Amino acid sequence: MFTLSTADRPYRMFVESMREGAATVSAGGTVLYANRRLAGLLSRPRESIVGSALSSFVAGGVDVALQLIRSVSEPGATIELDIVDVDGVSIPVLVGIAPLNVDGDDLTCLTFTDLSDQKAQAQEISRLGFAQAERLTQLQKAQAALTEQATQDALTSLPNRVLLLDRISRALTEARRTGLNVAILFIDLDRFKQVNDSHGHSVGDTVLRSVALQLSRAIRAGDTVARIGGDEFVVLAHEVDSSRQAVEIAKRLIEDLRQRSGAAADGGQVAASIGISFSIAGRGNPEALLEEADAAMYHAKSMGGARAEVFGVALGHQVHLRSAGRQLLRSALDQDRVIVHYQPIVDLTTARVAGFEALARIAEPDGSIVPPSAFIPAAEDSGLVVPLDQRVLHLACRQSSSWRPSTATDPPLTVAVNLSGRQFERGNLPSLVHATLEQAHLPPQRLHLELTETAIMDLRPDVMKQLGQIKELGVQIGLDDFGTGYASLTHLRRLPLTFVKIDQSFVQGLQRNPEDAGIVTAVIALAANLGLRSIAEGVETTGQLDRLRELGCDQAQGHLFARPMPPADVPAAIQRPPW
Ligand code: C2E
Ligand code: CA
Ligand code: CA
Repeated sequence: MFTLSTADRPYRMFVESMREGAATVSAGGTVLYANRRLAGLLSRPRESIVGSALSSFVAGGVDVALQLIRSVSEPGATIELDIVDVDGVSIPVLVGIAPLNVDGDDLTCLTFTDLSDQKAQAQEISRLGFAQAERLTQLQKAQAALTEQATQDALTSLPNRVLLLDRISRALTEARRTGLNVAILFIDLDRFKQVNDSHGHSVGDTVLRSVALQLSRAIRAGDTVARIGGDEFVVLAHEVDSSRQAVEIAKRLIEDLRQRSGAAADGGQVAASIGISFSIAGRGNPEALLEEADAAMYHAKSMGGARAEVFGVALGHQVHLRSAGRQLLRSALDQDRVIVHYQPIVDLTTARVAGFEALARIAEPDGSIVPPSAFIPAAEDSGLVVPLDQRVLHLACRQSSSWRPSTATDPPLTVAVNLSGRQFERGNLPSLVHATLEQAHLPPQRLHLELTETAIMDLRPDVMKQLGQIKELGVQIGLDDFGTGYASLTHLRRLPLTFVKIDQSFVQGLQRNPEDAGIVTAVIALAANLGLRSIAEGVETTGQLDRLRELGCDQAQGHLFARPMPPADVPAAIQRPPW
C-alpha cells in the first residue's frame, strides 16, 4: 500500500511545507496521507484524518467525495467545495485533483486551498461590480501551477521522479492493452562532477539545463524526459520495436550531447552513459524497470562511459557473479586463503629489477588460483576490499622484508601495494600503514602504495590529510591506471605523489593506435615535468618497450619481463632475471 515514505524525500518535504492542505486518497476514498496544513485546516490531529474516509470532512458526504476521486483523469483539474472542520464549521476550498498510479494502485492526490479570505474578497469584488469568474480562473491557474510544482524538477522544469513513475505506470498499462513495447533510458552524465568542481555550480546548472533542453528536443512527441537526480535523466520511450531500436535512440542521444558539448563555450565537456531497460507488452513494474536501467547504466560506465548498454541476461548474470565473488572472498578471508603474487617492475635504463607489485589472489582448496577479476568488483561493492587490502599489505610487507638486491650497489627493492579508495573512509590509514611496517620490520622507503584516480582525485580534505601523513612516514604514493580516470593537472600538482602508472590499455595500443600513442607520450612528458616517475604497465612486446624507452619512460612491468609469480619464486627472479 502507498505511504508517503515510498515517495521520494524532496517530494515529501515539498508537500509538508506547502501552504495548502494536501491528501492522498485511495480509490475507495480512504485517506492514506494528510499533510500538516490539512490537519490545521480541519483542526484535527493528523492521526485522526489518516485512515478515515474522505467523506468525513467533505461537505456533501460520500457521494461528493467519490465523485471527486473518479471525475478526473488528467492532473490539474480543480473543483470548488466546502470542507467541514472538527467543530462543524464549513470552509470553502478549491480542490486540486491529480490522479497518481503507484505500483499499480490508482490513487488521487488532492490539494485544498482555503478560499475563506478570497471568498470574502470576491464578495466584496462582486459587490463592487467586478467579474468574480475572472478571479476564480486566476485561482484555478494558480492551483494548476501548484500541482505542476509538486511533480516538476525546479532546475530544469522537467518532470521529476514522482511524475516519471506515474508516466511509466500509465505507459505500461497502455502497453498491456496495445501489446507494444516500452523502453526506459537511464542517462547519467560522464565527468559531470568534474565540471562542477572545476567550473563551479552555476556552470554545472547551466550544463544540466542545456542537457534538459537538448534531450527534450531529441525525443519523440509523446515520450517523456525526466530529471530524477543530480545529473541523472530518464527518457521514457513508447512504442519501441526492439531493444536494438532503443540502443539506436540512445546512441543518437549520446551523439547529440557530444556535439553540444563540443560546441559549448561554457567548459561543459559532457558525455553521457545510458542504461536501457525494456518492457515487452507492458510487462514489469515501474520501479524495477528503473532499477534495471540504472544497473545497465552502471555497466555502461564501467565499460568506459559514453556508451549505451541494455539490461539483460548478462547483467543479471553479473549481479549473480558479484554475489558469488563476495562469498568467495569472505570465505577466503575467514580461512586465510588470500595469497599474493609478485610482478617485477624493471628499471628501463639499467634493465634491473627495481621492485615488485603485490597482486592479490585466492588459493582454492583444490589448488587452483582465482584472479582478482573474480572478486575485486564484489569486494569494492561490499566493503570487503578493506580487509582484503589490509591482508595484502600485511603479507607484502612481511614477505618483501627479506628481499635483497642481487648486488650491494643496487638500491633496496620496493614493494607496491594496491589500495582501494575505501581505505580512506575510516581515517586511520596512516596509523595502520605505520603499524604494519613496524610489525614487518620493513623500512617505509621500500613501500609504495598504488591508488587509482577515482580514489583520491576529489581532493577531499580528510583524504588529503591522510595522504600527507603517509608521505611523512616515508612511504611513496603513486597513481595507478593513469589516463583512465578524471585526473586533472592542477589536482596532480596538489597531491603528494612520486610516481604514475600508465594504464596497460594505452601501452598495448602504443604501436597500433595513434590516440593511445599520443596519450602515452603526453603522460610520460607530464610526469617528467612534475618530477614524477613514469611506470608503464602491461608491456608485452619489444616494440612497445623500445618506444617507451625512446619516450623516456622510467620503469615498466609486463609479460615481456615476467608474469606475476608466487613469493617463493621472487629471490630467483632477483638473482637471475628472466629477461
Ligand atoms: P593493476 O593494479 O593494474 O595490476 C596490473 C594487472 O595487469 C595485473 O592483473 C597483472 O597481472 C596484469 N598484467 C601485468 N602485466 C601484463 C601484461 O603484460 N599483459 C596483460 N594483459 N596483463 C598484465 P591482476 O593481477 O589480474 O590484477 C588486476 C587488478 O586487480 C589490478 O590491476 C588491481 O586493480 C586489482 N588488484 C589486484 N590486487 C589487488 C589488491 O590487493 N587490492 C586492490 N584493491 N586491488 C587489487
Ligand atoms: Ca596496480
Ligand atoms: Ca594499473
